[in-house]
Amino acid sequence: MRTQVVIIGSGPAGLLLGQLLHKSGIDTIILEQKPKDYVLGRIRAGVLEQGTVALIEEAGAGVRLRHEGLIHDGTEIEFGGIRHRIDFKGLTGKSVIIYGQTEVTRDLMDVREACGAPTVYEALDVGIHDIESESPSVRWSADGKKFAIDCDYVVGCDGFHGVSRQTIPATRLQTYERAYPFGWLGILVEKPPVSEELIYVNHERGFALCSMRSRTRSRYYLQCPIEEHAEDWTDDRFWEELTRRLDPQAVSKLQTGPSIEKSLAPLRSFVAEPMRFGRLFLAGDAAHIVPPTGAKGLNLAASDVGILSRALIERYKTNSDAGLDSYSQRALARIWKAERFSWQMTQLLHLVPDASGFDRKLQVAGLEYLFKSTAAQTALAENYVGLPY
Ligand SMILES: Cc1cc2nc3c(=O)[nH]c(=O)nc-3n(C[C@H](O)[C@H](O)[C@H](O)COP(=O)(O)OP(=O)(O)OC[C@H]3O[C@@H](n4cnc5c(N)ncnc54)[C@H](O)[C@@H]3O)c2cc1C
Repeated sequence: MRTQVVIIGSGPAGLLLGQLLHKSGIDTIILEQKPKDYVLGRIRAGVLEQGTVALIEEAGAGVRLRHEGLIHDGTEIEFGGIRHRIDFKGLTGKSVIIYGQTEVTRDLMDVREACGAPTVYEALDVGIHDIESESPSVRWSADGKKFAIDCDYVVGCDGFHGVSRQTIPATRLQTYERAYPFGWLGILVEKPPVSEELIYVNHERGFALCSMRSRTRSRYYLQCPIEEHAEDWTDDRFWEELTRRLDPQAVSKLQTGPSIEKSLAPLRSFVAEPMRFGRLFLAGDAAHIVPPTGAKGLNLAASDVGILSRALIERYKTNSDAGLDSYSQRALARIWKAERFSWQMTQLLHLVPDASGFDRKLQVAGLEYLFKSTAAQTALAENYVGLPY
């Protein structure tokens, strides 16, 4: 078997890349280790930057997103029981769109299937070979049989725990990491949200977030110690704790109900560089992780793919390697800004267990400055709606 580009992983990065390349006549195969339904069942991100939406539309998967996505022109940040609105639209001219990662994935899978481009689900033991040569190959097993395919390039879109980054010798990769001593306990519920826009809450009991996936489906998060388990949190316990952290107006609007999903996600900042090794390129969570406070994970995966797809198209159309040679540097310049923003939002809004009195005073000063300063609000808004690429 032979193709032009092998993509490992059918998360948003892999599926979006596959479609953008397909539109330019470049052949791809996607190898995914999990079953399709498992990939579709993962509840994750839900805030899309306009640049991400533009790429999804370019890939031909934006019809439902345009109809069902909720446009948010701002967000609210609550401190000391008082909410302060950050006006994205007024400050930057841009908005964000609320549309679940699960729906993005489903739409991209549908257009890929409609155009007949191949995806192999349940591809196990994926191995990348001869990646420093002119003709790399990828091997895997499925249904008890072994397969191999030759290609021009391999793109690792296989998330933080995938095989692609691990293929690169440790001596050729520099990694940077920060782990946080708390996680986000998330709950998904078939009830309307408490507010038109997201509410980020800095509370003395810990951070909380009122988010949503649609007008009828809400997503709530609570900061909790990393050692806790989602199974130990009954729905009643979750609602009780959330109620303690919200202001009275939000509590009066809160519609509780049985959770349809509940999970605990650790918070981590991570970057591996460079994002290229021979003919292997990394994109999305395979190369970097951000804490979800800035809503940047999925959007960064999309911006990597935007830069890389153009570089690959340029390579096939004009025989120029310039875009591929500069991919890592260009992508990382944007990634580090999003890392900084996500880290800053995390510091600003969470109860940091080992924070000193000095740290806490700085956090309060940061919040008070934000609420009073148009310049500070503009900086937050500019980063939240997404920096250019
Ligand atoms: C629990 C959780 C909650 C999150 N919440 C938010 C949020 O609220 N906001 C936000 O912005 N971001 C959030 N994120 C981050 C966001 O979901 C990710 O940044 C985004 O999914 C990255 O897309 P990706 O395609 O790079 O990786 P992934 O979505 O991880 O996709 C990688 C794919 O590769 C497959 N794979 C892995 N290993 C192999 C292998 N060896 N062979 C073949 N296939 C393989 C996986 O099964 C998966 O389908 C969350 C992440 C998690 C884990």
